[in-house]
Amino acid sequence: MMKRRVCSHDMFAVPDSSFVLKGMGGEMYFCNLRCFCLWSVQKVEPFCRR
Ligand SMILES: [Zn+2]
Repeated sequence: MMKRRVCSHDMFAVPDSSFVLKGMGGEMYFCNLRCFCLWSVQKVEPFCRR
């Protein structure tokens, strides 16, 4: 069964080789590292912050 994968930041459909974050209550998918950084900043996580 294929699970639909969408970017957690912009909700775009992401390919199989996309950036995957595991943990935090499941798997999250991102187009790339940039989407992940933007998303993590919105979630106020100390990741990709300076
Ligand atoms: Zn994205």
